[in-house]
Amino acid sequence: MNFDILSVMLAPINSTWLEIDLDAIGNNIRRIAALTGKPVMPVIKANAYGHGLVPVARAAVRAGAPYLAVARITEALALREAGIALPLLVLGFCTPERVPDALRYDITLTMYHPDLLEPYSRQAAAAGHALRVHVKIDSGMGRLGVFAENGLEFIQQVHSNPWLEWEGLFTHMARADEPVLDTTHQQLQRFDALVRALDALDLRPRWVHAANSASCLYFPESRYDMVRPGIAIYGLEPSELAPLPQGFQTALSWKARLASVKTLPQGHGIGYNHRYYTAKAERIGVIPVGYADGFRRRLGNFVLVGGKQVPVTGGVCMDQCMVQLDDVPEAQVGDEVVLIGRQGDACIRAEDLGSAWGTINYEVVCGLAERLTRVYRAESE
Ligand SMILES: *Cc1c(COP(=O)(O)O)cnc(C)c1O
Repeated sequence: MNFDILSVMLAPINSTWLEIDLDAIGNNIRRIAALTGKPVMPVIKANAYGHGLVPVARAAVRAGAPYLAVARITEALALREAGIALPLLVLGFCTPERVPDALRYDITLTMYHPDLLEPYSRQAAAAGHALRVHVKIDSGMGRLGVFAENGLEFIQQVHSNPWLEWEGLFTHMARADEPVLDTTHQQLQRFDALVRALDALDLRPRWVHAANSASCLYFPESRYDMVRPGIAIYGLEPSELAPLPQGFQTALSWKARLASVKTLPQGHGIGYNHRYYTAKAERIGVIPVGYADGFRRRLGNFVLVGGKQVPVTGGVCMDQCMVQLDDVPEAQVGDEVVLIGRQGDACIRAEDLGSAWGTINYEVVCGLAERLTRVYRAESE
């Protein structure tokens, strides 16, 4: 379907919405596969970084991904409910009480601590079939995982347990998005020593993986059997210091319509606590976007109206905020407002909002509320 026509059709329906280009996500996944020469396990935790879990999973399937990664079993179960049949890896903690769900829906769990061995295998024994696991190594992240030097002993325990099907081994990079090479090299050295020891014992599992977005782009030696990017599949940069190469496309835009335009007289307070008073008679618009949508409650926000960047004025309310429209005298009720994305020659990226808010693009998109309508574009579908 032609996306412009779709937008026009949507105009009267939605007051604020996200436009998500699934073809861009498919393109980015294929781009990473081509750049790395490895299969891609897209990370679609946190509602696919705000882009929508199930539609992004379908796009990943179409792009040829052999495996999907999420943070929690609830996310994996939602994918199974939607009919996604691909292997699914839960990267984080799953309570032993939920292991029966993992078994029933064929979900792979992460085995990252000796304390999990007994409760997980007990659940699998009770269900009468083995639980598939990937072993997680802490090579320097200081988060989940067995230290690399204890890896072999731990793996032998996992491997010899009849109720565990050991399919993979992975680790996670702490600083691959910085121009500090030492940490990543040291992490890879520790992990690689373990992988070589396994090779020597003819014990290497089906999938060895280590590379998040920055690592798979900047550290070729971290690619192993499969790469595990999140942020890059959405066309967002891992960090300012680790930009995306050519050929990636940003998938998400955030739009709204002007709900009201009126002139307030000089000295008029705006919004709760009157955090702004008009300096003169000012044209003030209202947009139906607030902190409950993921737009931060802070001063100094900005949006695009009429192809120009205009200031948000006063505080951000729960469901609405106000904009100063003196630079766009033609603006009227119903006009498109862009919070993330392009309008004419102007553009606001998730990265720009992140730096304005003192955070990173990841937190901006993950904060996009469930209640925002997500409109998908997929011409290839
Ligand atoms: C989130 C996450 C990723 C993806 O990281 P990006 O920086 O978004 O590419 C990969 N692996 C693990 C274990 C993660 O938690």
